[in-house]
Amino acid sequence: MILENSFSGKEILTWRNFQLAKGGNSVDLDWLLDLGGGLSWSDLQILKISQERNYQLNLSLQELSVIWMRFLDQKIPLQYQVGRCPWRDFELEVNPSVLIPRQETEVMIDLALSKVNPCEKGIGRWVDLGTGSGALAIALARSFPKWIGHAVDCSENALTLATKNIEKLVSDSEIYMHLGNWWEPLTTWFGTFDLAIANPPYIPKSNFEKLDSVVREHEPHLALFGGDDGLDCCREIIKGSLNGLSPGGLLIIEHNCDQSERVLSILKKNDFHEIEFANDLEGIRRFALGRYPKK
Ligand code: GLN
Repeated sequence: MILENSFSGKEILTWRNFQLAKGGNSVDLDWLLDLGGGLSWSDLQILKISQERNYQLNLSLQELSVIWMRFLDQKIPLQYQVGRCPWRDFELEVNPSVLIPRQETEVMIDLALSKVNPCEKGIGRWVDLGTGSGALAIALARSFPKWIGHAVDCSENALTLATKNIEKLVSDSEIYMHLGNWWEPLTTWFGTFDLAIANPPYIPKSNFEKLDSVVREHEPHLALFGGDDGLDCCREIIKGSLNGLSPGGLLIIEHNCDQSERVLSILKKNDFHEIEFANDLEGIRRFALGRYPKK
């Protein structure tokens, strides 16, 4: 029996060298072999010493070449082409209506876990403002299984995708989906949110040209740009938190690498307390935390 998409190690290695000669780097190409082809990094290491053996891929080498060429020539992100993206300990479906969830954002869940003690409260309510693919919402649902969750997005397509990801990955959780701007659709629950988390668009308009073209030309601008100084959405979220949070409720918000001083002054001006900042995996100040109002 001839299996479809079965290739010898030698064929795969030759293909890999040929693709790398066209451009790009091995990290991206091996990501494609893994997520698109189903050939993990450890399979690839085995393959290098067992070249005569045959390996079964999820796609043909020809199909993988087409994806690689679209990535090199048209800068279409591999995640959009494959339609999936791993994040924390799960895999999300992604499409161009949502930002590709970044590894740096994973830290926000650890921050939430370190600041909120679920045993202490038994039950609580969280909200993910600007949920996109639903990444933060899904991780929160897994981290706080007894809590009630809310996920908000102003893009209908994003909300549809987030709902799909949530149903697939955390179907047992109680999560309400809302279409709208930040806190706007949540008035019914104002004053009851123990935790609000947001990775809003924060790139200043003026940074447009500086962005990598893979990002600039294909990711949704709605999820990237936050006005002239990048902080329009951050201001709106912080203002809304004054009504939304429960006494002593926690806000965790992601910001750009050089915005922490300005975010600090917005939080201070709005009487937040226990304000702290945390770094991303590269050691850059990326997350602001604060509580409001005093218990
Ligand atoms: N961190 C993302 C980037 O640099 C931007 C995400 C955002 O604006 N929230 O591409």
